[in-house]
Amino acid sequence: MTLPKITKEFLRKHNIRIKKRLGQNFLIDEGILNRIVEIADLGKDDIVIEIGPGMGTLTKKLAEKAKKILAIEIDENLVKLLRETLVPFKNVEIIHADILKINLKKLVTQLPSYPVTQFKTGKLTDWRTGKLANKVKVVANLPYYITTPIIIHLLKARKTLSNIVIMVQKEVGRRMVAKPRTKDYGALSLLIQYYTKPQIAIKVPRSAFLPEPEVDSCVVDLEIREKPAVKAKDEELFFKVVRAAFEQRRKALKNALSQTRDLRLDKKKVLKILEKADIKPLRRGETLSLEEFARLSNLIAKKDVG
Ligand code: SAM
Repeated sequence: MTLPKITKEFLRKHNIRIKKRLGQNFLIDEGILNRIVEIADLGKDDIVIEIGPGMGTLTKKLAEKAKKILAIEIDENLVKLLRETLVPFKNVEIIHADILKINLKKLVTQLPSYPVTQFKTGKLTDWRTGKLANKVKVVANLPYYITTPIIIHLLKARKTLSNIVIMVQKEVGRRMVAKPRTKDYGALSLLIQYYTKPQIAIKVPRSAFLPEPEVDSCVVDLEIREKPAVKAKDEELFFKVVRAAFEQRRKALKNALSQTRDLRLDKKKVLKILEKADIKPLRRGETLSLEEFARLSNLIAKKDVG
């Protein structure tokens, strides 16, 4: 039997109602599932966090390659089913929870198979060997209604992660990898490129899902950087500047930065800072590179400018 047939049969047999509000679009393309596992490049030491295992199709394939799978699912009915159907997969732990409410760093470091005790150096160390510990990979076909909150949540736990391999809406994938002076370039591009090296690994047509969503998708591989791409002295301020620059993307920077309440800068000061940063005041935020945003926010952070 083919995967689409197996999936339909499974839904019917277990009387499962697909919940659109939970972003339930199940992958039914065997080739795409295999490609996701290949992209994740799993080894026998790897720990995987899967967000939204659904019916467990991807989970089983991940379990064949990795050491341990922590599969976090919000839907109680699916959790019950997964706990029955995944019994043969001893390395899978099903966690019934909302991914956004889980403390990922705690979850990972408390695993008995993950004896990590030191966060002091900012690096994960195995206390038994003193060597750097393996980090964790996130692999998921995301529920699209909370894509951005999930990404922000994952990036907060980035020190425990090595890669985030996720299915997202095609347009979101394009925004993640977009370069300055393109229409897709924006705050999401800067957030992702600041912390990770993103890559669109494969494009996925809507026909690969049941039910078919109204959009096409892609799988992105976000490799977590050891250090952010540029040196921002105050990260919170850096992202405030980014947000201000894109709030009204057609606006010149001198206006965008002085008209936002978040930064509390008057126009005279903004002009001085832009001059020091060697950025023309009529440029728009969408033309600025990561380096230029860092330069700008580092000057704003310096209290003595202006
Ligand atoms: N992995 C399965 C697949 O590829 O066929 C299902 C993917 S489906 C796009 C998204 C899954 O995420 C659903 O099973 C849904 O119930 C689950 N989900 C939705 N919101 C969630 C949340 N906040 N936390 C955890 N899981 C969630």
